[in-house]
Amino acid sequence: MKIKALNGFKDILPEEVGLWNRVESLARNLLERYSFAEIRLPVLEKTELFARSIGEATDIVEKEMYTFVDKQITMRPEATASMVRAYIQNGLYVQKPVQRLFTIGPMFRHERPQKGRLRQFHQMSVEVLGSDSALVDAELMALASAFFEELSVNVSLELNSLGCPECRPAFREELLGFLESKQENLCNDCQRRRKTNPLRVLDCKNPQCRELVKDAPSILEHLCSGCSEHFEKVRSCLAKLGIDYSLNKFMVRGLDYYCRTTFEFITKDLGAQAAVCAGGRYDGLVKQLGGPDLPGIGFAMGLERLILLLQQQEVTAATLATDLFVAGLGEQAGEYAYSLVNQLRKRGLRVAMDHAGRSLKSQMKQADKVNASFVLIIGDDELKNRAGLLRNMSSQEQQSVELSEDEVEAVVSCLL
Ligand code: ATP
Ligand code: MG
Repeated sequence: MKIKALNGFKDILPEEVGLWNRVESLARNLLERYSFAEIRLPVLEKTELFARSIGEATDIVEKEMYTFVDKQITMRPEATASMVRAYIQNGLYVQKPVQRLFTIGPMFRHERPQKGRLRQFHQMSVEVLGSDSALVDAELMALASAFFEELSVNVSLELNSLGCPECRPAFREELLGFLESKQENLCNDCQRRRKTNPLRVLDCKNPQCRELVKDAPSILEHLCSGCSEHFEKVRSCLAKLGIDYSLNKFMVRGLDYYCRTTFEFITKDLGAQAAVCAGGRYDGLVKQLGGPDLPGIGFAMGLERLILLLQQQEVTAATLATDLFVAGLGEQAGEYAYSLVNQLRKRGLRVAMDHAGRSLKSQMKQADKVNASFVLIIGDDELKNRAGLLRNMSSQEQQSVELSEDEVEAVVSCLL
């Protein structure tokens, strides 16, 4: 019986990896320009880290985590909690008052797999720890938006504020009152959410629930003066940076740690999987996880969704490139080619060869498949005369090269 990958776990094949590398290197380059440092975090963490940060009554913690029950450990479903854990554990706040960090890697959630929704997926997570300035909120949105611009991906930014522990409870009460009148017609999930996490009802995807909450109270009208000022400042900074956005009072985000600014970059081109990037402020989280009372804000970009968008735009990236394919014809020529290839690789050339003693025709096909710029053909007869035939694959020109004492230099000098 053939063993297949788990449902929702996907191979990223060589022909796709070029695009992934391009996206990741563009991201690293951009993040450097915005003064962010990379951090690499473990994939496994204590279950409690996610339960305490993301929140018990969230989709992620309730039903999406891969948890080893016997060991109380969990495959990370997102990176912010781990980032904050590392920030506290390594005393990064002592080293620098404001830490600007990013990480790129796989996350794990037990969801129903579909296009743009996997069980192992990748996020680029960008976080600023130690600053509550509205300038930082807008700067992060500007960074994400510059990235989409560089990739020519068309997305729109939606913005909301979730208030803080001071102003949210009153809003929650008012929302609860509103939901009570709609209770019977809410979907089963929302009937449950209404009790555990009523704000989540606002972003239910069920069309009937959407219709029902259309006139729900808006958090933006319940912000305390601190949150309201902060939000206005974020908006004025966005205007200063020339970033377009629209307000979305229904965006509440599915993680408990958010407060104040929340935002999502949305696409129309991926069906229900509309959010390509999502984030927000989490000022209480560091303290909640046992660290000092320091604020934070960040976003996570879903790389599969971004790659899908690029593929839909037929953006591809260069696949494997090879400088030289060495075709040895015959036993002795094959052996000779084998050590020649090794020396050429050490000299810095990208070199390929065939190991099965195939015909010239078949080796030329292989050379094509690896996009070889040149092919060096060596037969047993040529070897006797210390000569090879070098073919330029784009011009089809051929020239004889002498494989004298210093074969490597001879070939290298022809190629460079
Ligand atoms: P969604 O509403 O699509 O479930 P989410 O709110 O659960 O998203 P976040 O936890 O905010 O997502 O994660 C940030 C980003 O990571 C999302 O905007 C999305 O691009 C990506 N993402 C989240 N879950 C998955 C998944 N299962 N497969 C692929 N990408 C995902
Ligand atoms: Mg989700």
